[in-house]
Amino acid sequence: MSKTNLEFKTEVKQLLDLMIHSLYSHKEIFIREIVSNASDAIDKARYESLTNSALLEGDKDWKIKITTDIEAGTITISDNGIGMTRDEIVSSLGTIAHSGTKEFLAALQTKEVKENPELIGQFGVGFYSSFMVADKVTVLTRKAGTEKSSATKWESAADGFYTVEDAEKEGKGTDVTLHLKEDEKTYLKEWEIKSVVTKYSDYIEHPIVMDVEREKDSEIKDGEKVKVIEEETLNSQKAIWLKDKSDIKKEEYNEFYKHISHDYTDPAQVIHFKAEGTSEFSALLYVPSNVPMDIFYKEYKMGPTLYVRRVQIMDHCEQLIPRYLRFIKGVVDSSDLPLNVSREILQSNRQVDIINKSITKKVLGTLTDMKKNDSEGYLKFYKEFGKILKEGIHFDAGRQEAISELLFFQSINKADGAYISLQQYVDAMPEGQEDIYYITGTSYDQVKTSPYLEAFKEKGYNVLVMLDEVDDFIVGGLQYKEKKFKSATKGDITLDKGNETEKKEAEEKYQALIELIKDQLKEEVKDVRLSGRLKDTACCLVGDEGDLDPQMEKMFKAMGQNVPVNKRILEINAAHPIFNSMKNLFEKEKNSASLKEYITLLYDQALLLEGSKIKDPAAFASAVTRLMVREVDKAAG
Ligand code: ADP
Repeated sequence: MSKTNLEFKTEVKQLLDLMIHSLYSHKEIFIREIVSNASDAIDKARYESLTNSALLEGDKDWKIKITTDIEAGTITISDNGIGMTRDEIVSSLGTIAHSGTKEFLAALQTKEVKENPELIGQFGVGFYSSFMVADKVTVLTRKAGTEKSSATKWESAADGFYTVEDAEKEGKGTDVTLHLKEDEKTYLKEWEIKSVVTKYSDYIEHPIVMDVEREKDSEIKDGEKVKVIEEETLNSQKAIWLKDKSDIKKEEYNEFYKHISHDYTDPAQVIHFKAEGTSEFSALLYVPSNVPMDIFYKEYKMGPTLYVRRVQIMDHCEQLIPRYLRFIKGVVDSSDLPLNVSREILQSNRQVDIINKSITKKVLGTLTDMKKNDSEGYLKFYKEFGKILKEGIHFDAGRQEAISELLFFQSINKADGAYISLQQYVDAMPEGQEDIYYITGTSYDQVKTSPYLEAFKEKGYNVLVMLDEVDDFIVGGLQYKEKKFKSATKGDITLDKGNETEKKEAEEKYQALIELIKDQLKEEVKDVRLSGRLKDTACCLVGDEGDLDPQMEKMFKAMGQNVPVNKRILEINAAHPIFNSMKNLFEKEKNSASLKEYITLLYDQALLLEGSKIKDPAAFASAVTRLMVREVDKAAG
């Protein structure tokens, strides 16, 4: 195929534009980005060659080589990794492939970044960062295991277009050549390259080499020391996770995190440990600072990268961690697993189970320490990842206790919406309170004025506010310090045990009226009874203890699930004057049409209060207006 001129996708153009015009001072990170791609390409080749040795082409001497050409003003970073076909290079270097592209570009457009170009270095800017220092970039690449004549040359001057043409290449892999801008020639200098490589890419497992000229002390010719060219390895190559903790600086940990996660912010926690005994492995894990954009998508790939004795086996090994810790990033390097493990083998492997258990324990332990020693940092973490972590209450019964210590909730006693732990809740329980009360909802403001809370407020009982969809699942089976969780909107709540006689009297007084209401609403509700939770509001709808919340019911229906029809219970407040008036009217005129209308109105109000829709809004509106007319007429005389 001949040379073709192609246009970059819009988002690449935008990114390139930013790269070229950025005033960013740490332009040297382009080396980190290209070296990182080269290292990934070698990992892929090495892994695929385990099952297809033809890919090796007889060359197992994995390395990344940096060469410079002073006269041409170019720096080239070469790898003998997997390489790319023509199609692959067009799709990889003509678009931005990684997830979260839109968000990434949006972030680059923010005022904050524009005014402070230093910030762009935090982003995983990838291959395109080469255009910060180069006015032209040439990529020569050949897929491992293909003919020497089937290579591809890609070239662009970042003017919106790039060319691809067929080419020849002796070795497999990729050469990325940067034609440096006039004022960026510093990257031709040996010491500059060395310092950048050691700063950003020291942990890269493959040797990053460069030819350097050395004087040989032992050989003198014509009175001068003989100069020889030697290949020197610039990086220490020690896989960072295998190093001693005390030898690793925080920046190094953070750099490595960014390398593996494509996140641009520093992690919130680093968890680095070695396990010995029944299973031998090293793990370097990170708790990110922010929820990755894609974590709630189905396509999200969870799990640390799995290595076996330093050979990368797979990118995301989900068997290594439980789903409720899926936000954890990092690497695990096992000494016990066979090199040829497949995803299928991993599913039922004892070693993997042991690693999983040990990581889970370690992560939960780290979070517990974090909560103890850095409560502010922990809360920040919790607000980001709490709703994922909570799933563990349901799915990891054995660790329920440990996980419940990590939970925080807002509550009605903290008007500013501050979070409290379950321990804090229990510690503040007044005498006489036996259970932990909670209310679910969609926002703190909506919930905190809920009529269901009237009696609790009066008694001084705190009620936890649960706003996450998973909350309803988890409290079902949860106990904390042998205390049960009770919904403020479900079951028969009697906070005042002493008032039994009062309650009996009221029941007798309203029995006939309650029967009438029951009869009229028999299609809608399963029971009508006096309420122990209301103080000011006339009535409300509640469920039995095991019933689904109306919000949950809606959610399940939206998910297309079959939800059994579950009638609610109407609770009426005997202390509210409306019932006394209705009772009087009932005694005077058993078949009163107004009474019927009031019952419907009360039921509709109760529906509105719980956030449900009323059956006939038009009838509701006209009934309310009719009542208003009566009131207004009365007021006007
Ligand atoms: P990222 O590395 O975040 O995916 P880049 O823009 O740096 O983004 O690279 C895009 C893609 O180009 C890579 O995902 C990879 O598929 C391909 N690529 C880049 N460099 C190389 C290389 N040296 N060898 C093989 N493929 C490469």
